[in-house]
This record gives sequence, C-alpha cells and structure tokens, in this order.
Amino acid sequence: SEQWLIRSEKLSVIGQLAAGVAHEIRNPLTALKGFTQLLHRNADSNSRYYEIMMGELERINYIVGEFMVLSKPHHRQELKAENLHDILIGIVPILESQAILHNVVLRIEPPSEACLVRCDMNQIKQVLINLMKNAIEAMPTGGTIDIRYERDRIKGEVAVWIEDDGPGIPAELLERLGEPFFTTKEKGAGLGLMVCYKIVETHEGRLSIRNRPPSGAAVTLTLPLWERGGIVA
Ligand code: ADP
Ligand code: MG
Repeated sequence: SEQWLIRSEKLSVIGQLAAGVAHEIRNPLTALKGFTQLLHRNADSNSRYYEIMMGELERINYIVGEFMVLSKPHHRQELKAENLHDILIGIVPILESQAILHNVVLRIEPPSEACLVRCDMNQIKQVLINLMKNAIEAMPTGGTIDIRYERDRIKGEVAVWIEDDGPGIPAELLERLGEPFFTTKEKGAGLGLMVCYKIVETHEGRLSIRNRPPSGAAVTLTLPLWERGGIVA
C-alpha cells in the first residue's frame, strides 16, 4: 500500500544518512585508535583503562562497519559466479578462534557436486559469518554447528542450512529478528541480522530462521544459482 511505500522510502533515506555518517566516523576513529595505542606505548599508563578504551573503540568500529553495509556508496555490488564450498571453507579460519573458545565444532558437509552461486562473495561471506557468530554465541558451553546445502535446479537456487544446538529463539521474539538494534545480548549491537536480510534481499535470495526440535535454531539461506536462466546443464 501507499503507506508502506512512504515508510520504506523513509527507512531508505534514514539508512543512507546512517551509512553516510558511519563513513565519516571511520576516519577520526582510526586516528583515535592509533593515538591511543601510541599513548599506551609511550607512557606507563594504566593498562586496564587502555584495554577498556581499545575494547570500546573496537565496538564503535564494529557498529559503524555494519551500518556501512546498508548502503555502500563506494562499493558497487559485484555479482559473479562463486563456488559455494570455497566460500564456506574460506570463512572457517575467520571463525575458528571464537569457535574453539566456545567449544563449538563447525561441520561442513562435503558437497556431492560443485555449486556455483551468483553473488558478491564478500557480502555473502559477511552474511555467513554473522549467522555463524550468532550460532556460536548461542552455545556458550559448546555444541555443534551443522552446515549443508542442496541445489534445486528447477528453481535455479541453492539452499544452505545452518543448524545449531543452542536454546533456539523464544517464539514471541521470532518476528523481531532483523529489526535494527534488536538484541538479547548484553554486548550485542542488534545489527547483524538486519545486515544479513539486506544483503540477501539485494541478491534476490531468501533468509529464514526458525526453531528446530528438540532444541536449537535453524537458518535457511537461499541464493540464486549462477546458471539460473537454464543455459548451463
Ligand atoms: P546480535 O548478535 O548483536 O544480538 P543479531 O541481529 O545478529 O544481533 O541477532 C539478534 C538476536 O537474534 C540475538 O540477540 C539473539 O537473541 C537472536 N538470535 C540470532 N541467532 C540466534 C541463534 N542461532 N540462536 C539463538 N538466538 C539467536
Ligand atoms: Mg549477531
């Protein structure tokens, strides 16, 4: 309806403003970080304060980074044919230390056949990293994340399933996932899923999150196959 249209236009203006501001914050932030490190090196300063300052600067950096994804004026999305398995294997080293710390095992099911998706690899990496971080964070005492995928030639897409055995998501909160700043974590920014939904939408894919019995969350990410259009056998 018209009302919805106005609302989504407003949101996109706000999103662009936020992204612009985020971009402007990056440079002074980099300077702040650098000089904080220099001060720490040159003075016999209180290292507890230093840790807190660096931690908080890191946090601002993280939030700003998530906002910049919303509308990146300087990086046009580049859709190419990418091997899904390579993308999945490529993010393991990024998550490994956090997974080990949490006693979480990442299991990626080997593919029966190569699968080329149409995507901007860095953006899809970011989606997968955000989703897996959520899964790791949901299992503070350890667990397993199972990742598998299956292509559907008829629909011209691939579905990726990411399943954890954490507590899952309370039913009444399911519809709030992806809402900006919605978080149940003490140190959460509540921006990860919003960014995921945004990226997946621009890829003409789908993202859904549900609970799976007896416990745990299951995410399904659908992305278009490179050969969609039906030329390649
Ligand atoms: P953040 O991770 O900063 O909280 P997100 O947008 O990534 O922000 O996630 C929003 C909320 O969704 C989380 O705070 C958490 O409550 C819930 N959530 C997301 N993924 C999972 C999961 N795998 N298991 C349980 N809860 C989850
Ligand atoms: Mg998150």
